[in-house]
Amino acid sequence: MPLVKADGYGHGMVDCARVFAEQGAAAFGVAEAREGVLLRAAGITQPILVLVGVISDTLRTIVEAGLTPVVTDAAVLPELSRVAGACRTEVGLHIKLDAGMGRQGVLPAEFIDTVQAIRRLPHLRIDGIMAHFPMSDDRQSDNTVLVLDMFLKTTGSSADYGLDRCCLHLANSGGLFYVAGARLDMVRPGIALYGYYPDGADGRKNAVSPLLQPAMRFVTRIIQVRTLEAGRSLGYSHLFTTTRPSRIAVLPVGYEDGYLRVLSNRAQVLIHGQRVPVVGRISMNLTLVDVTDLGRKVHPGEEVVLLGSQGEEEITADEIADWMQTISYEVLCLFGNLNARTMVE
Ligand SMILES: *Cc1c(COP(=O)(O)O)cnc(C)c1O
Repeated sequence: MPLVKADGYGHGMVDCARVFAEQGAAAFGVAEAREGVLLRAAGITQPILVLVGVISDTLRTIVEAGLTPVVTDAAVLPELSRVAGACRTEVGLHIKLDAGMGRQGVLPAEFIDTVQAIRRLPHLRIDGIMAHFPMSDDRQSDNTVLVLDMFLKTTGSSADYGLDRCCLHLANSGGLFYVAGARLDMVRPGIALYGYYPDGADGRKNAVSPLLQPAMRFVTRIIQVRTLEAGRSLGYSHLFTTTRPSRIAVLPVGYEDGYLRVLSNRAQVLIHGQRVPVVGRISMNLTLVDVTDLGRKVHPGEEVVLLGSQGEEEITADEIADWMQTISYEVLCLFGNLNARTMVE
């Protein structure tokens, strides 16, 4: 079950879902009902799980679009049953168990009661039981085994309740790669499908080939190149002052495009296949880079790679995440969802 929430982690939900469907995806995972409706409108016919739980506002949409609700709280069940009845359909749902994530879901002690509550209600059917790992990206963590054990122990009795055919699923990318025995009936990779390891650069370093290939590039073009003498201070707050005669290229990208201010005086970009530094404050729509050290002169209109490869060099979302003190997931969502995208086959 590919995860395509957050508009496909910034890559374009519908385009990605079509690719994954062609590759044999059995189901899709989204956060919100609204996303599921968009997938249905795009012709996706597989089950679509609405993972963040269902609230009464979205029940009718979920049932009418034939989405699969993930139930995190038994309180919603009577209304879900009523809506299903009103739509003359039976709704197959999945139960989200809190097997140690500590965020959302039915607690193990409430599990059997929840199952029985569902079985007492008309128009509802239990198709799956899931949980989520809080730290499967940490290969050293003991927690993952505890969560897996708790999940298996809690669902172990499900056959007694006539649930022996329901789908058990637990593994995100970290679970899929690093946790023996976690694959169960279905896996739910997200980040791995977009070419990144859940544990970032360490994951890539320790992985066996073939390595995952990052899918996203973020490129712009130089709009101006300026020649400045030593001692000139640049941009807001004069965060950078030239120490030598310098060539400074101006890029039409800023924090509005997800190229966050925290990257000021810190990030690098690729021009002519070489790394050059961002200098000064990144502003809403403009960023400056120091191109003095490039062998060849650069010109307006030339390609600048903020994320991805150019020639032999590559800047990954893990590296940018490090500069931003975050994870690749956030970099991909920001860059992808705030900019025009083109899908390249
Ligand atoms: C987002 C999500 C995943 C995918 O996680 P990755 O770390 O991107 O593989 C899996 N399961 C659930 C419930 C999620 O919300």
